[in-house]
Amino acid sequence: MGAARLTIDLDAICANWRALDALTDNEVETAAVVKADAYGIGAARVAKALAEAGAKSYFVALAEEGVAVRDVLGDLPDIYVFAGHMEGESDALVSARLIPLLNAPDQMSRHATNAPAHPFGVQLDTGMNRLGFEPSEWNDCKGELLESGPLLVMSHLACADEPDHPMNARQLDAFHGMTDGISRRRSLAATGGILLGPEYHFDLTRPGVGLYGGQPFGGALPAICIDVPVIQTRTVQPGETVGYGNAWTAVAPTKVATISAGYADGLLRAAAPEAVVFAGNTPCPVVGRISMDLVTVDVSGLHEVPASLQVIGPNASVDAFAEAADTIGYEILTSLGARYERVYLPQ
Ligand SMILES: *Cc1c(COP(=O)(O)O)cnc(C)c1O
Repeated sequence: MGAARLTIDLDAICANWRALDALTDNEVETAAVVKADAYGIGAARVAKALAEAGAKSYFVALAEEGVAVRDVLGDLPDIYVFAGHMEGESDALVSARLIPLLNAPDQMSRHATNAPAHPFGVQLDTGMNRLGFEPSEWNDCKGELLESGPLLVMSHLACADEPDHPMNARQLDAFHGMTDGISRRRSLAATGGILLGPEYHFDLTRPGVGLYGGQPFGGALPAICIDVPVIQTRTVQPGETVGYGNAWTAVAPTKVATISAGYADGLLRAAAPEAVVFAGNTPCPVVGRISMDLVTVDVSGLHEVPASLQVIGPNASVDAFAEAADTIGYEILTSLGARYERVYLPQ
């Protein structure tokens, strides 16, 4: 068993969904964002587990992701596509009954021409300037769009992970200004927005990262463990170096374990030298550079070197590893790659 093991706790993901759902009033629906293969965790397994837990609406980035989720979930759930109605995708949207979130006048026209009776939602730009109808475009198109009955009118917050950021209130105001008085379901909050409080919840929330155990949802249960087999152990003498670029030099006799995963498995190179891995509860610092397939670890503190070391787990959160690499948990999760032996619990 040379490959590192990625253990995915589907019960924890469902518990996180329920915990986020419990933060909103009963009449607010909690959807699930499963784009990018459920943040690298496996959209098929995650969507199925969440459907059993009661999630009724799903969000993906691309139509092809939605087709895959539809195959798993059957006909009932609503599956929304953030990219909207892209050219060449009308057939896929219609045949898989995916709901494009139209984001500009050209998409509106394409939808009216290619799929006039097909359900859709609308994405508004309230200041993030990434996706969505600008306020002036919305003014021009609002009548026609609302007449055709969008299933959802949504926008997205740029700074929801910073509760005190003035942008949150600005976007909330803008969203009210653009949508108050319409008789359609509205959505503004992803994970961070749920935590901002009830005025951000509207009719439906769209958590992603919080389901998968990541910040900013501090109350999340960890959803994944990464256990990496030790391939070899050696003692390095003072003055000897370890790894590419001789980046680390021993100052005392040091026991170094080489483990079988690296940046090809999402253990980003930038995480060295800050990253720490664990043998049970004992932290073991990464030494030298992280290579494509290998990480070298100082295990001098251990009486006995175990068969594998834990890179992510109860003692080592995704966000702690992300911080070592100066990035965010989202990027670690979506970088995990295809090489792990994946174990889903419960099986
Ligand atoms: C990714 C995404 C989400 C989910 O965001 P999290 O921060 O992971 O909860 C919700 N809405 C939109 C528009 C997104 O792009």
